[in-house]
Amino acid sequence: RVTLRLDKVLTHMGYGSRSEIKKYVKQGFITVNGVRAKDSGMHVHPEEDVILLDGERIVYKEFIYVMLHKPPGVVSATEDNRDRTVLDLLEPAILAFEPFPVGRLDKDTEGLLVLTNDGKLAHELLSPKRHVPKTYTALVSGDVNEKDVEQFGKGVTLDDGYVTLPGELVILQQERREDEVISRIELTIHEGKFHQVKRMFEAVGKKVLYLKRIRMGNLNLDAELKLGEYRELTDAELGLLK
Ligand code: URA
Repeated sequence: RVTLRLDKVLTHMGYGSRSEIKKYVKQGFITVNGVRAKDSGMHVHPEEDVILLDGERIVYKEFIYVMLHKPPGVVSATEDNRDRTVLDLLEPAILAFEPFPVGRLDKDTEGLLVLTNDGKLAHELLSPKRHVPKTYTALVSGDVNEKDVEQFGKGVTLDDGYVTLPGELVILQQERREDEVISRIELTIHEGKFHQVKRMFEAVGKKVLYLKRIRMGNLNLDAELKLGEYRELTDAELGLLK
């Protein structure tokens, strides 16, 4: 059975700093299994013990899993000297878990980004061996055609000579804007090289104008989430990732 310090449990769950928890203990606000806690360093069984803070039950969990609809203009990093990061979009109660993004989307890319503090799951999702599929929708300048579909289906040679795994390209719509054609496409890739989708289109002489990730593994971006909004994954969704 896991044991943790009482103050560790409460700081992890976002109820304050260690010194604040110490104060709550002194003030008699915290009980463990009905007994007033005397020492914020006491050891508890976080999954089983009934811990109350001012009468409110603290339901402990080790991990957090967040689905974010990443907006453009923020970077998928935990810190950055210049730009706002995806962490700047999250509330303190979530940040207390110290989540980090699972993989990266470019600054100008939108869509599904999972954040977690579960290093093992993140590692598995990102492992090059697992080939977890990622699906994007994009607007591409130029006439994306059946030749491109075939080429992407075989693998595309990128600017650095790397040949991608086969990707599934679907042409959704072609639009004529002034004197150019814009193609709306969906592309599923099975790896995550730097700027991969943009570079795959560059390799066939076309330019990605807009890019959004809509799916990772079997997990779909919740269409109800607006840009910049997020929520925790449901247990069922978490199951889809594992
Ligand atoms: N491919 C890209 O080019 N950019 C992304 O953000 C994701 C995939």
